[in-house]
Amino acid sequence: MSDQHRGQSRRGFLKTLGAVGSGSLLAGAGALQAAAGPAGAAGQAKVPRRPFGRTGVQVATLSLGGIFDIVSNQLMLQQALRLGVDYWDTAYSYSGGRSEEGIGRFFARYPQTRPQVFLVTKSTRRSPDGLSEELDTSLKRLNTGYVDLFFVHAISDISEVNSPDIRRWAERMKKAAKIKLFGFSTHSNMEECLYKAAPLGWIDGIMMTYNYRIMHTKAMQQGVAACHQAGIGLTAMKTQGGGPVADDTEGELLLAGRFLKKGYTPYQAKMAAVWEDQRIAAICSQMTSITVLMANAAAALGRPRLSAADRQALQRYAQATRGGYCAGCAGICEEALAGQAPVAEVMRSLMYLRSFGEPLRARQTLAAALPQGPGRLLELDYSEAQRRCPQGLDIAGLVRQAVAELA
Ligand code: SF4
Repeated sequence: MSDQHRGQSRRGFLKTLGAVGSGSLLAGAGALQAAAGPAGAAGQAKVPRRPFGRTGVQVATLSLGGIFDIVSNQLMLQQALRLGVDYWDTAYSYSGGRSEEGIGRFFARYPQTRPQVFLVTKSTRRSPDGLSEELDTSLKRLNTGYVDLFFVHAISDISEVNSPDIRRWAERMKKAAKIKLFGFSTHSNMEECLYKAAPLGWIDGIMMTYNYRIMHTKAMQQGVAACHQAGIGLTAMKTQGGGPVADDTEGELLLAGRFLKKGYTPYQAKMAAVWEDQRIAAICSQMTSITVLMANAAAALGRPRLSAADRQALQRYAQATRGGYCAGCAGICEEALAGQAPVAEVMRSLMYLRSFGEPLRARQTLAAALPQGPGRLLELDYSEAQRRCPQGLDIAGLVRQAVAELA
């Protein structure tokens, strides 16, 4: 642990790290300067790029996740472009539209920047008419005629996109030059969604939950390998592996101490574990301040080279804290409940509260998952779902907490 942190309480120390997000306390600006060369002679360092599958597009390995009020944070976009973070991710629903509107405001002011940006937006609708309605609104808000990639947002089963209607819709939108590429995002049943998308031949890109906790499983490896072979561009999200239970363990402190001694944070180490997988084109990270942006860019530029012992430490930590992490395998617990409760979404709402510190997003996620209200959730018997849960989550207890704190 650095001198800076000596004497702080464990909670205070971890809170400090959390405030910096995924970046480095120790090597932020330094890593950027080092990458720029002597005295910054080569100019501003830019984050590396990777091919986005076989789409022919090279994207920044760090993507600006835009779930925040971008209207009020215009400087972020300018700074992101300076750092080469020109893969911007937003959605129709983010921040009640202010995420897209903020990007639109930036393009209105700096129209010359639009071609530099690989712009992604998403819709939670599942019908061609619904997708068209939201895409048209998104384009207006974004002040652009096209998006580079359009995602059907948050699917948990491939049938949510794999229909002749949606395929024809995607082809029509490409012909109309409203979208360049098409795909989906997923944080439930990701492995199966990936695996089943690979042979379709018309999915260009996927963004999925992918982190040191779940990336090594056989099912995930099969899904990623199939998509990679099929030339689908892959973006990882939720790379910090936060869960519905706030991690407040000695293990977290030990992990932090281990990596800080080496000059980087556990957040950087977790990102590095994902970047080590060359099949992953980019990490999408929510960056709500310039400090976090700078720190994440530093991680992308001078990212730690993990040793075998570092990887083992991450694995040990994942194993020790598995009961606090929902792996998104909704098919398991929700089948045990005969589809009566959207358990994975409930866990996701708690994750936003406990691991992201975003109560508003947590409440919105829970409300969207429970259009009829939470009443029935408390009446169900979760014992079989808990028995089957591979993470050993206390599903009943967590559902009660979600209802009490967020409904
Ligand atoms: S609660 Fe358990 S079974 Fe359900 S999605 Fe989460 S990890 Fe999977």
